[in-house]
Amino acid sequence: MNHSINASSHRLPLRSVIINDEFWNKRIKINCNSTIFYQWDQLEKTHNQENFRILAGKKKGYRQGFFYCDSDLHKWADAAARILTKTENKKLSKLIQEYIDLIALVQQPDGYLFTYNQFHFPGERWINLQIEHELYCLGHMIEAAVSYMETNEPEKYKQKFLKIAKMSADLLVSDFLGASPKYTPGHQEIEIALIRLYRITREKKYLDLAAHFLNQRGKISFFSLRLISQALSERKRSKKIKKDMEEKHITNELQMSFFGGEESHQKEAPLLPLRSVFQYLSGRYLQQNQPIHRMKRPFGHSVRWGYLVTAMAMLYQETGDEKLLNALQRTWEYLVQKQMFVTGGIGSLGVVEGFGCNYELNNDTCYCETCAAIASILLNWELALITNEARYSDLLEWQLYNALSVGISLEGKSYFYRNLLESEGQITRKKWFATPCCPSNISRIWASISEFIYSYNKKGIWIHQYIGNSTKIQGLINNNVVNFQMKSELPWKGKVNLVIDVEKQAEFTLNLRIPSWTNNITLTINGNPQKIEIDDSNTKFTGSSIVPMKSKFHEITRVWEKETTIEINFSMPINIHKAHPKVRGNKNKIALSRGSILYCFESIDNPEAKIPYATIDLENELTQEFDGTILEGIVKILGCDKTSKKLIAIPFYSWGNREQSAMQVWIRD
Ligand SMILES: [Zn+2]
Repeated sequence: MNHSINASSHRLPLRSVIINDEFWNKRIKINCNSTIFYQWDQLEKTHNQENFRILAGKKKGYRQGFFYCDSDLHKWADAAARILTKTENKKLSKLIQEYIDLIALVQQPDGYLFTYNQFHFPGERWINLQIEHELYCLGHMIEAAVSYMETNEPEKYKQKFLKIAKMSADLLVSDFLGASPKYTPGHQEIEIALIRLYRITREKKYLDLAAHFLNQRGKISFFSLRLISQALSERKRSKKIKKDMEEKHITNELQMSFFGGEESHQKEAPLLPLRSVFQYLSGRYLQQNQPIHRMKRPFGHSVRWGYLVTAMAMLYQETGDEKLLNALQRTWEYLVQKQMFVTGGIGSLGVVEGFGCNYELNNDTCYCETCAAIASILLNWELALITNEARYSDLLEWQLYNALSVGISLEGKSYFYRNLLESEGQITRKKWFATPCCPSNISRIWASISEFIYSYNKKGIWIHQYIGNSTKIQGLINNNVVNFQMKSELPWKGKVNLVIDVEKQAEFTLNLRIPSWTNNITLTINGNPQKIEIDDSNTKFTGSSIVPMKSKFHEITRVWEKETTIEINFSMPINIHKAHPKVRGNKNKIALSRGSILYCFESIDNPEAKIPYATIDLENELTQEFDGTILEGIVKILGCDKTSKKLIAIPFYSWGNREQSAMQVWIRD
């Protein structure tokens, strides 16, 4: 495997880590056996595959859907490819092969692939790059191809898909490498895809183009005028399509609102229309307001920002540009201090789908798109590899169990797009969206969760996540082979058991992440107790009230001989989070967590407590109890309100899985 030269440690191939974990097995199984096929069917219903069939000449009909809807099918293929990396599945293989055959037929001889222009405006391309997402769509296709190369699928199909991806990437290199800043994409994604393509092909032109796209951002002159002109052009083009459809008597069945109409009762932050105009025209919305090296804080559309910083972190790994790393680290600090919710979710404002003012972290008007949580997880993972600092993996864990897990139902077929921290009862999970960017994005992450567990270099191995698994790490000291068996009782119990087996005796360091949520650890090596001290010196009071900076790696350096057993017990106290005084609306409120799980109160469990306006009496002791009868088995937190009525808190990720309910995370004490 090729290593990125400026990463402190390296990722393991996806295929090499086999997950065996009670909590995650369920999710992974549902993802492979049900969700991925459900998503394919939903994409069929919303014309995604049909658009390609029409352009391939296999069907007669009219292209439907938003200009960016190709991306949803490409992202589905990425998720499917990642699933196929881990398991064999003939039905899924057939579907992805059908997809590859289709896109091969639709791709133009020079590599262009974008059904919107190919159908409605043949011959036109790169017209409204800030708005129309051509490069975003191609990015997801290229990522899917890169993921597919790691599968055991037929070589013929792997080469076919890689050829399609390279043809498109080569077209981009020829059209955009060295081009002016106005030829940068409005929605980042292509940069991540090009760096991933570079990593498997080692063809430097792909890395150069990713770097070019990133370095040209924030340099467009008269940006607001250019954006207005592109917005007018986009409007003119969509009107032309509408007129054409009317003339041909075609009904557009896909004319739903952006969220499929289900969020129309959503409360929004004050002055949002005005603030949105400012965000668009200043370039902040698209991260076009300043060069990337100058970035000090997150701004604009949260998913675009997340993909941008992830690509910057990936670029740093290849180039070692310290200015990039400095920008990333100070921006991360800013995010955690002032712009992140206690769930780990990011993005405070609807409409612009992004960041608001400092500490503007309102429970009922927040945005917190599932994709933004994913983008943030991707950033954390890249920063973890660059620095070997535990803070990034610690936040990754928190976002995985909270901000991200809440986005999908337990049965894997309904979703939240926005993830609020409070609801009066109108919000429910939806079967699908007009813009279904989140569902396949979750499936991509569930299929590749094993990537986030380990990293390694010549001197040691890092354990970032305690998710049960077995793996073989090769290429360590003297080409040694290290086998790991990890049993984990997280997230409900703090017990983790590790069996490490080396082929040859060798000295190296095993680095165990001490999570920020624990306050006591016992650790034994082959039954012998070891001393572990928790560093409590970092008591930073963040806007989110979580402090991933407290997390550290505990180093065990020794000569490892055949089979060593390590047993770890993390204490799991109920943690009471106090709201930061600058977060208006959360004054005198607390939130509860236990281990990596954030809790909430749902009205179905608390019919008399007036959720989301309940209060809690902390004078009464909080207790915990495992309940195997609800929500696939959870630990509940039990307390009382001020009138001594019982209160039940459940994991935040699990809310919205029973009957329609009100919900609150923060509760007055
Ligand atoms: Zn999304």
